[in-house]
Amino acid sequence: MNIQDIIKELSISTESKIVLLVADGVGDLPSKEGKTTLEYANTPNLDELAARSVCGLTDPISRGITPGSGPAHVSLFGYDPIKCQIGRGVLEALGIDIELTKDDLACRGNFATIDNNGLITDRRAGRISTETNQKMCSLLQESINEIDGVKVIIKPGKEHRFVVVFRGKELEDGISDADPQLTGKKIKYAEALRPESKESVRIVNQFIDKALEALKEQHPANAVLLRGIAKHPGLPSMNELFKLKPAAIATYPMYRGLAKLVGMDVVDTGETIADEFVALKDNYQQYDFFYVHIKKTDSYGEDGNYDAKVKIIEELDGCIPQLLELNPDVIAITGDHSTPAALSAHSWHPNPFLLYSRYIRVDEVKHFSENEFVRGGLGRFPAMEAIPLMLANALKLNKYGA
Ligand code: ZN
Repeated sequence: MNIQDIIKELSISTESKIVLLVADGVGDLPSKEGKTTLEYANTPNLDELAARSVCGLTDPISRGITPGSGPAHVSLFGYDPIKCQIGRGVLEALGIDIELTKDDLACRGNFATIDNNGLITDRRAGRISTETNQKMCSLLQESINEIDGVKVIIKPGKEHRFVVVFRGKELEDGISDADPQLTGKKIKYAEALRPESKESVRIVNQFIDKALEALKEQHPANAVLLRGIAKHPGLPSMNELFKLKPAAIATYPMYRGLAKLVGMDVVDTGETIADEFVALKDNYQQYDFFYVHIKKTDSYGEDGNYDAKVKIIEELDGCIPQLLELNPDVIAITGDHSTPAALSAHSWHPNPFLLYSRYIRVDEVKHFSENEFVRGGLGRFPAMEAIPLMLANALKLNKYGA
């Protein structure tokens, strides 16, 4: 038995309510005046809450590992991010709002250009416009609806990128990329990496042939390359594992999709942070666990826009009273990973983590920031332990052993 089996056995359903607020990529590095964005921002409400909470730092996967938002969220939702890997094709499909089922095999696609000899001259078809991409995807969808009883769903992304979903019983992953990664080479067919995936490979390769046929009069998008071919992960739901009735409030498709993968209901929300808190209030009676996702802290971090990240942190701070008004039994506020504006990218730095409940040992922390939280009572721990901590503080975990 591992710790997850134990938590599954100990968890109980109760009336108490938990809110997990994730400010994506909120962790930062000192920059302006030697301060991080959290230190620079004026956050009276977060500071007040930190002063009566217990705080710490989390590692999303393991020390030194910079995660994507996918595995970082898997971890925050209480799943082992090493065992529960979500393939790139699946994440890409979630990112453009495709509703996936457990029977799906999803791939990331590129439109590419090949010459008369079938050699690739451009792996991105000259970065065709998203509009042209949409036309090419409709053209493909019209000619390829089904292959040997497997439904084929083709949806455009941005520029040259698209997603193909194969939907049918008994599809298997363990399939190589169908992409030689280089120009001057012939297009590559997918290969089975496991004996069980041979039949699925046959379907994928038929798709490639049919796509080449359908696109042969087109230019520059006259070929397709497929990567990240992955099966729906079929994770057990948070209800099965933790007896929770969870709801997700998120404005970006990928996060709504990730929430669905772990069995959360995704509720309607407007675009702003204030709207998300209104959605929380509107749905507060129906659920006992709420995942609220704030995207822009990460977006501005990725843009290297320190000032905008400060502003969005202040905007979030202004909404904290809306959260406190509901008086949840447990509040956790954290990031999924850090996205320092100075790096314009995700990073390996640990996330600030705040935990509020009636049953905590309040620590000395007075401000919501990375450096203050180093002194927090929770210390530094794997993000995967956040759910058990929240469950315990909501009195949703029974005793282990006699
Ligand atoms: Zn993220």
